[in-house]
Amino acid sequence: MRYIKLGDWEIYQLDGGKFSLDGGAMFGVVPKVLWEKLIKPDERNRIPMASHPLLVKTNKNIYLIDVGIGKNWDEKFKDIYDVKEENLFENLDIGPEDVDYIIATHLHFDHMAGYVNYNFKKAKVIVQAYEWQDANFPHLRSRASYIKERIEPLKDKIILVEGDYKVEDGIYLILTGGHTRGHQIVLIERDNKGIIFMADLVPTIHHIPYPYVMGYDLYPVDTLYARYRIYNLILKYNYLMAFEHDREAKMGYLKIENNKPTIELI
Ligand SMILES: [Zn+2]
Repeated sequence: MRYIKLGDWEIYQLDGGKFSLDGGAMFGVVPKVLWEKLIKPDERNRIPMASHPLLVKTNKNIYLIDVGIGKNWDEKFKDIYDVKEENLFENLDIGPEDVDYIIATHLHFDHMAGYVNYNFKKAKVIVQAYEWQDANFPHLRSRASYIKERIEPLKDKIILVEGDYKVEDGIYLILTGGHTRGHQIVLIERDNKGIIFMADLVPTIHHIPYPYVMGYDLYPVDTLYARYRIYNLILKYNYLMAFEHDREAKMGYLKIENNKPTIELI
């Protein structure tokens, strides 16, 4: 877990479980001879990843942005994805019962399957309407990413939004599409400083170059356009980027070197 302050707001980068995914699928059209220099695959060609949800405590509310891959997986699932389960709220004074809103960037299992493992007594779950529709009626290309038993329990808690949305002053949802039609990222702004939770727009620091788009993305060219738009915003306001999928929790500032985007980690 990692803790930073944004003005008088508190931000925690949590441990939502470790897993591994196929390296080729994670780097799309990028040849293995290039990506394997950045991150070494295991004997089954998988690269190490993790889920790092963000917990944000404002003066009004406690937000949890994504919940992670969660727990209680069967042996077959654990073997395919090399899952190592973690307790999201370990070493934290805040518990699931304190969370007011869960913001789901999208409903893939590595982001939201953990929802069923905790007793979020009062939390409402904010998700894009497109995502809710596509998660409930997946097609053959997306079906493996949406797990019915872990999505259905959300239905009584769901708040659907369409497009960019202000949750409260300083908490903004930005619809990016790309990874899925309803994929969104979250901007947290306080005292002229900001953090952007990149979700699957840029899953790890190795995905910062524009064309390093995942093979998992349903609309990869939309991901590329969204990166142009969001990188410009980040550079203009010097927002801190929080990455969800690096094995170690990572945050950093975007820099342009030799015309290429790169990261300066904090
Ligand atoms: Zn993901």
